[in-house]
Amino acid sequence: MADLPVADNMIDIICDLRQFDQDVDDVGSVQLLWQQIGEQIKGKTIRDGKAITVTLPEGQVNLWFVDTNGISQIGPDTFFRIIDLLRSPKLLYQCAICGQYGPFRCVACEDTGQERRLCANHAHTIKDELRAYCREHIPRCQCRTDCHEQATFRCRRCHNLFGNHYHRQHPHDQLVDYCYWCYRVLFETCEAPGCRRLGRSKCAFQTRNMATPCQKPLCSEHSYQWKIWGPHNRGVTLCEQHKQVLGTTDPADLLFMMLTAQAPYARRGKRQSLPNPFRLRRIINRNRVVGLTFDQLGHSLRSLESQVSGWNKRTEGNYRYLIRNYFETTGGIGNAESELLTQVRAFYQATLGWSAAQQITGLEITDRYYKPGQPPRYRVQLHLNTSNKGPFIGPRGTTINQLRQQLNLEIDL
Ligand SMILES: [Zn+2]
Ligand SMILES: [Zn+2]
Ligand SMILES: [Zn+2]
Ligand SMILES: [Zn+2]
Ligand SMILES: [Zn+2]
Ligand SMILES: [Zn+2]
Repeated sequence: MADLPVADNMIDIICDLRQFDQDVDDVGSVQLLWQQIGEQIKGKTIRDGKAITVTLPEGQVNLWFVDTNGISQIGPDTFFRIIDLLRSPKLLYQCAICGQYGPFRCVACEDTGQERRLCANHAHTIKDELRAYCREHIPRCQCRTDCHEQATFRCRRCHNLFGNHYHRQHPHDQLVDYCYWCYRVLFETCEAPGCRRLGRSKCAFQTRNMATPCQKPLCSEHSYQWKIWGPHNRGVTLCEQHKQVLGTTDPADLLFMMLTAQAPYARRGKRQSLPNPFRLRRIINRNRVVGLTFDQLGHSLRSLESQVSGWNKRTEGNYRYLIRNYFETTGGIGNAESELLTQVRAFYQATLGWSAAQQITGLEITDRYYKPGQPPRYRVQLHLNTSNKGPFIGPRGTTINQLRQQLNLEIDL
C-alpha cells in the first residue's frame, strides 16, 4: 500500500469500485477486497490504456494502470500501490427516495438536525437558489389566495417565495422575477384619466360577492383614503368610483372591508385597532341617507358570523374584537338614551316651557368619553321637529351651555 518502499516490481493503479456494490471505506475492507482480487489477476497481461476487470459476487472491480513501471505481466511478486479508489458516489450520498446519487440536502431537514440526501430529480429547488428541499418541506406559494402551490421562485422586491401562477417578468430584464403584486406596484400606471404617474396604490373596495378587490392602480393624488383608523393614519385606499358608493353599500360589506383590511402599525408590533362602535357607526353612516341605529349595526355585524370560519386568523380576531366591543358599548345604551331624553325635556320644560319641550322628538348618543375615576361623558344628538333652534341654544349659547353643565353632556342640535 501507500507506505511500501518504491521497488522495481511495483505498479501504481487506480482501483475503480463504481460498479461494486459494497462499502469499501476502511483499511480492513480494502485488504479483504484485495485478497479476492489478487487471486484473480495473477498472470494477467497489462495492456496500455486498458483496465483489468475482476468480477466478484458484489459486482465488478476495474483496475486502471497509472504507472506499470515497465511490467507487462502480473507475477506472484508484483506489488501494487493503490493511488486512488473510485467509489460509486451513491454509496456515499444516497437519495433518501430513490437511492441514486444524492448530492443535495434538504435545508429544512437540516434545520431539525437530520441529514436528508436527495438526487437531482427528488430535490426541489427554487430558481437561482442553491437551497434544496425534500418533498415534505417544499415551500408553498405565499400569495394571499391560499393556493397551496409549490413555490418555484423568489420575488426580487418582496423576497417572498411564490408558485408559477404568481410569476411576472421584469418588462426589460428576463432574469428578474417579480411576484404579481410587486409587479403591479412597480410598473402599473394610475388609471385616473390623463394621469401618467405610477399607480402604486390599489383600490381595496371589495364586497363579499367580489372574488378580489377592485385593485384599480392609482397614484397618491388620485386615490382616496377611507379613514377607518383615525384621521392621522392612512386609510383604506379607494378609487373615485368606489369612494362614491360608500354611502349606498350594504353596511355588512363595509364591515367586511374593515375587518379584512391590514391596519397600519400603532407602534412596534402592534396594529391600530378598529374604531369603537360609536365611531364605527359614524363612519358607516357618512353620506348614508338614512343612518344606521345601533340595533341595525349589531344586526349587520352578526350577519357576518356565518362567514367567520372561512377567514384568516387576523380577520377573525378583528371580528371577535368588534363584536365584543359592540356588546360592551351598546349594552344599556337604549336605557341611557331614554333617561337622558327625559332629563333634557325636563330641563327645557323648566326653561322654555311645555310646548318647547314637546318639540324634542329624540335623542341619540353619538359618542362616549372616559376619564379615569369619572362616570362616562356622552355626546348626544338632539332631534327637533322645528328648524328654529334659537331658543334651545339661547343668547350666546347660554341655555345650551347650562344644559351641558347640568347633565355633563356634549350636545349637537
Ligand atoms: Zn431520488
Ligand atoms: Zn426536508
Ligand atoms: Zn399562490
Ligand atoms: Zn413580491
Ligand atoms: Zn393619478
Ligand atoms: Zn375601486
